[in-house]
Order: sequence, then structure tokens, then C-alpha cells
Amino acid sequence: MSLIVQKFGGTSVGTTERIQNVAKKVKKFRDEGHDIVVVVSAMSGETNRLIGLANSITEEPDGRELDVLVSTGEQVTIALLCMALQKIGCEARSYTGGQVRILTDSAFTKARILDIDGQRMRDDLAKGRVVVVAGFQGEDEAGNITTLGRGGSDTTGVALAAALKADECQIYTDVDGVYTTDPRVVDDARRLDKITFEEMLEMASLGSKVLQIRSVEFAGKYNVPLRVLSSFEDGPGTLITTEDIENMEQPIVSGIAFNRDEAKLTVAGVPDVPGIASKILTPVSDANIEVDMIVQNVGVDNRTDFTFTVHRNEFKKAQAILAGVASEIGAREVIGDSKICKVSIVGVGMRSHAGVASRMFKALSADGINIQMISTSEIKISVVIDEKYLELAVRSLHTAFELSEKPA
Ligand code: ASP
Ligand code: MG
Repeated sequence: MSLIVQKFGGTSVGTTERIQNVAKKVKKFRDEGHDIVVVVSAMSGETNRLIGLANSITEEPDGRELDVLVSTGEQVTIALLCMALQKIGCEARSYTGGQVRILTDSAFTKARILDIDGQRMRDDLAKGRVVVVAGFQGEDEAGNITTLGRGGSDTTGVALAAALKADECQIYTDVDGVYTTDPRVVDDARRLDKITFEEMLEMASLGSKVLQIRSVEFAGKYNVPLRVLSSFEDGPGTLITTEDIENMEQPIVSGIAFNRDEAKLTVAGVPDVPGIASKILTPVSDANIEVDMIVQNVGVDNRTDFTFTVHRNEFKKAQAILAGVASEIGAREVIGDSKICKVSIVGVGMRSHAGVASRMFKALSADGINIQMISTSEIKISVVIDEKYLELAVRSLHTAFELSEKPA
């Protein structure tokens, strides 16, 4: 049959009872004849608890030691899951990242996977065993334990699937798939049967938290079909895959993402001469502040306005930096607004359809929502609006692009 990598997140293994439910699920697939490699996260809350312990000793723990500490969370889960599998008659073996040679660089707490030696896992699979691997961790060249960054078990799952050339990587979580938008905002948000890697990547970087961004990048790069499903209910979930060129009827818009964590800064009355953008943004990036959208108008009377957005947490810091820059470059003033949000429509179908932007703007204007900034890519249009209109905007766009109705 096929080889499936199944990843279970923290809430799915949050108690020993839930671990036993996971074992039943895994056994069901095994009994159908599939080869199964399972990747697990730490029990929910455990990684935070461990980081808390470290912080009760020091504000800035050494990265190597922090990784030795936090990697224990996943080690607990692999052992418990194997016990649960064995108890119901399913042969299983647990492995830490190092034991199955998940080789990473030495960037502690945010390591990148360089290579995986699948032999040990293949040997076990050939003997009919379920292989259970600790997510989120690896080992560097020198044998030091490393971790892959928060939420990194998703990446472990995808990386193992790529290394073993698995037929599918299934990510079990507490939602039953990827939705057209957040169901807490739009009642009739719909679970998507399918979404492309590119769209998922946009959705993830625009604020949808279903999957770690890196795992989606990885899956796209190695073309690993990825499926997001619920560990608590049965269902097909959402398949994340390459664009289906055969299928001409791609929906124009697949989803609506939004982000409340943004703030907007405008340097007004900037001299319209070469080098100004760099003079404004270099000190901002030197302060490690990430800039998202950037808009600069065409100059009138040798003056222009320069606007960009940053994370709301960095608003005050950026504002202080700009105050200095503004007087240096002879700008008129700095205007800040932290009560904004970003709403984006995402869809590969946009590439082949005209009029998507005007449909979006028309829907927003019908509700009297003022657009403050616009940015576009091939498969996305984002607008910045007043945060008080966030829900209204998302609902209007969901309706305007007919996302509640299942495509034929
Ligand atoms: N346990 C790690 C975390 O909480 C990794 C993961 O859950 O994916 O970030
Ligand atoms: Mg997680």
C-alpha cells in the first residue's frame, strides 16, 4: 500500500487519554496495510512550561542548553505513544531526531534540516513496525541536540515525508482543515478540499496559523502532498498540493486572510530625490524592525509621502526612529496610526482573471470602508483599512467572491 507520515500536534497528544486515541487512529491505518511513520509534538503546554523553567533561572538561556531542555517534551510523547500502540497490539518503535539522523545546522533554537538518513526507519517499516519520531528536533554535525523553532514538528513531518518519499504527509490538528477564512469571523466559512502550496504559503504568512510557514515551503519545494485534518473527528481535511493545470476551473479567490497586528507610519512631505527610501528604511531595518507593505506616491512639487507598515509591537520604536530621520532629511512630519488592519484575498485563479481588484474594491466601498493602502502580488491583493471594519470587510469579501458556496 502506501507510505504515510502522520504528524500529531500538541493538543492531539495533550493527555494520555488522547495519546491512546492517536494510537487507535494510527493502528487503523496500519491495519489497512499502510506503512506509517508518526511524528509527534510535545504534550500541549509542555514546551512553554520548559521555557518557563529556563527563564526562572535566566532571561537569556544558552541556546544549546535550551535545546537540550525543550527537546525533552517530544521525547516524552514518542515513548508514551509507542506504549499505547504496543498495548493495542501494534508494533512500534520510538526515535529521537538524532537517532534517525535528522542532521541540522548548529543554529540552536532555529536550526534548519540539512539531511535525513531514512535507513533506520525503512528497516523498521520493513519489519512491519510503526515508526514514531520526535518532532521539532535534530542533531548537528557534532552531535549536539538542536530544535527547529516553535511549531517545528510540522517541518519534521514534511521533511521525513520528503526523505522517505512518502505518498502523503498528514498533519492532524484541532481544526478539520484549512478554511476560506476564520470561522470565528464568518459563520459560513467553508473548509477547502484543496489549496495550492503557493496559496497556503500566502495564507500562512498573512496570519492563518494552521501550519508553520516553513513546513509549507518545504512541502512545496519537495512536492510532498500535505493534508491538514482533525485528530478528533473523521473527515477528508484539506489537501495542499501543486496547482492543477488540468483543472481550468480554479476558483478565482480561495481564501481571505487578515492580520490585526499591524501599524502604519507615514513620513509626509519627503523631498523627492534619490536615496530617500533608503534613508528612511535603513535605520528601521538596522533596529531589526520588519517592514511589511511600502507605498510611496508620485512626487508633486518635489515632495512626496512615504508610508509603510510594521508589526504593532514595534510601532513606538519605529515612530521614535522616524522622528530623527524626518528632521535629518527635511520631511514635514511623521504620522502614525496603530489602529489599522490588513485584509487580503488570495487565489491562484487571479492570474488568469481580470477585474479581481475592482470586485474587491467595489465590495469594500459598498460598505463604506475606506482603503488606506493597497499592495498586490500575482496571487494576492492586500488592503490596509481601519481596524474597526475588519469583520465587516472580511464578511463582505467572503460574500463578494462567493466563498460560502462550494465550487461545482
Ligand atoms: N513543541 C514545539 C512547540 O510547541 C514544536 C511543535 O509543537 O511543533 O513549538
Ligand atoms: Mg504545534
